[in-house]
This record gives sequence, C-alpha cells and structure tokens, in this order.
Amino acid sequence: MIILSDEEMKRFGADLGTKLKGGEVIELIGDVGAGKTTFVKGLAQGLEIDDDVQSPSFTISRNYMARDDLTLNHYDFYRLADAGIMSMEIAESLQNPKNITVVEWGESVRDVLPDERIVVKIAYLPTEGREVEVEIPIATDH
Ligand code: ADP
Ligand code: MG
Repeated sequence: MIILSDEEMKRFGADLGTKLKGGEVIELIGDVGAGKTTFVKGLAQGLEIDDDVQSPSFTISRNYMARDDLTLNHYDFYRLADAGIMSMEIAESLQNPKNITVVEWGESVRDVLPDERIVVKIAYLPTEGREVEVEIPIATDH
C-alpha cells in the first residue's frame, strides 16, 4: 500500500489503533525518518490517548494511558547498547494483556518478541510517499 502523506500515515495508524484489544505486539521496521513514530502518533489517536506522542529515541521507552484501561508501551532501541535489560522490560510488558507493545528498531530484542506480532514495514519512495506493508498474524484468542 502507498501512503502519500504524514496525515495519511496517522490515519492508517489510527485505524489500526481503534481495533486493538490489548496484548498486541507491533514491530515497526523502516529507516530513520520513514514514519514509524508518525504511525504511532496515529495509533495513539485510535487508542484515545490524550498525551502528545513523542519519539522515544532518547528515553528508549514511553508509556501512555489509553482507552479501556489499556496502556501503550512504545520503545525505540536505535541507540540501545545493552539489550539485556530492555529484553526483560519487554518480556514484562508482554505479560500484561492490557498492554500494547510497540517497538521501533527491535532487532536486538527480537528473541523476546512473540511470533504472533504485527509487523509494519515502511519504505521510502522517491517522493513524500511511503510504501507500507503489514503482516498481521492469524487471530488468536485475545
Ligand atoms: P521514524 O520514527 O521512522 O524515524 P518519524 O515518524 O519520526 O520517522 O518521521 C517521519 C517524518 O517524515 C516526519 O517528519 C513526517 O512528517 C514525514 N513524512 C512525510 N511523508 C510521510 C509519509 N507519507 N508517512 C509518514 N511520514 C511522512
Ligand atoms: Mg521513530
């Protein structure tokens, strides 16, 4: 699918955000500036999060209260030196079915990410547009 603008990326994220029930894991794959965090801003709208979503690239993680007692845990491991501690934090996030776990630059923690995760791949196009590919796992019991 082609997403032509920043606004469209947010709408796409918001659309998925409205469907989340808790317990989902979303891995975002794409270069710096591809639009991963922009997608999460939209996701947050769909989750009725009031806070402004900021990139967690310096803080590594940010957490937001969402609708229906859900929590969005947003990680960015681009600058991560030691994946060990964060793997433990992710593993903990995955245990609570009220958490939605979203990971940018997840390579270093991939061994703790479940196979049944949603994977969103975003690639640059020569214009402002982005090519977006989504892999959604077969529905489980949540
Ligand atoms: P990442 O988290 O992947 O590093 P960001 O979402 O922080 O990327 O930044 C993407 C930048 O590209 C933003 O400034 C956004 O406004 C801009 N942009 C332009 N076109 C698009 C598009 N089609 N989809 C997403 N972002 C876009
Ligand atoms: Mg980002």
